[in-house]
Amino acid sequence: MTGVPSPDAALVLFSGGQDSGVCLAWALENFARVETVGFDYGQRHRIELECRRTLLENLRARFPHWAAKLGPDHVVDMTGLGAISQTSLISEAAFVYEKNGLPNSFVPGRNLLFFGYAAAIAYRRDLKRLVGGMCETDYSGYPDCRDDTLKALQVALSLGLDKRLVIETPLMWIDKAATWALGHKLGGAAFVDILLEDSHSCYAGDRTKRHAWGYGCGVCPACELRKAGFEKWRANAS
Ligand code: ZN
Repeated sequence: MTGVPSPDAALVLFSGGQDSGVCLAWALENFARVETVGFDYGQRHRIELECRRTLLENLRARFPHWAAKLGPDHVVDMTGLGAISQTSLISEAAFVYEKNGLPNSFVPGRNLLFFGYAAAIAYRRDLKRLVGGMCETDYSGYPDCRDDTLKALQVALSLGLDKRLVIETPLMWIDKAATWALGHKLGGAAFVDILLEDSHSCYAGDRTKRHAWGYGCGVCPACELRKAGFEKWRANAS
């Protein structure tokens, strides 16, 4: 490592979900060196962390030209977040919308913390680009997914580290149907197959039911978005 962030190198915030999976493929198509980071924040459903490992393994096996660019996977222990947050993603509380319009799956400041940790890894590994699957088009209203939040964060991180980092959000202005289409454009049917089989979005952690659009309970907001997006993409494609 030289201490100079490489513009052709990226760190993807990869949760194992469909959005960050597409971001990973996008980074592998666009940059020469790509690493991944995942966060263990005491998720209620450990399945997410298992799915991300499986997805990475299958990606390496089925896409040798991407595997050649794909470096180490970093997993950060942030289980302390559970001690200071009360949210349905971490505790056993049922999923509901709060009075402020946000779902109780909102973990306050989660993306701010994730990017702070990611920036520390990127600094050490000379990775200039931080890639995240945040999106303002089909989303639950989380304020830390907004474009303005991430632009401000990019400035704060670059100043605080005295290194120019760039936050890339390729999904920011596209809907879930377009996210499926982008995945297909990047990796074809084989990559869509990996997303369907290995990516996990369901808030309920349900992997018992396989639908046309992948695994999930089918009724939580994440499943609804994923299902509607997949069906719209298929309808547009046919
Ligand atoms: Zn679900």
